[in-house]
Amino acid sequence: MIPLTSSCFGYYIVKANAQQWFSMIDYKGRHCGDCLPCIIKRVSLHHANVPNKYDDYLVDVFNIFDSPIFLTKPEHSLDTIVRIADILRFCQCLLNIPIHDLIINFPDLYIFSSSVDSSKLSDMYKRYSEEVIQCFRDKSSIKTQEVFSSVLAP
Ligand SMILES: [Zn+2]
Repeated sequence: MIPLTSSCFGYYIVKANAQQWFSMIDYKGRHCGDCLPCIIKRVSLHHANVPNKYDDYLVDVFNIFDSPIFLTKPEHSLDTIVRIADILRFCQCLLNIPIHDLIINFPDLYIFSSSVDSSKLSDMYKRYSEEVIQCFRDKSSIKTQEVFSSVLAP
């Protein structure tokens, strides 16, 4: 089931990028690896302890500085690095601010309905943030951990 799922924004250019960037002629993967849905999928599967055989992505965001495209495609890599920084900064923010500040700063994350418990919603966002940061701590290269040490340092 897992190999059949995909929400990748770049699925339509994965094979072309595999050929152009990594000289992989018959790449069978379907995930670019560095769009937001790919990053979130990797975090979720890591948290669920899904075997590594399902962790097949063209670009490894956890080792972006060691990837050949870091040197050959600097603009693309910069976009990826900014995306990683945005995610980590957002998760760090969600973890560290009190619930009333969460609602003030991110009202679009809250559903204002009598049947929704805001504190449970906040707890879910905080769990998500912990999972993202823990995944980056577990899977990132030493260089990635150094660059994002303000969030990833234990
Ligand atoms: Zn993708």
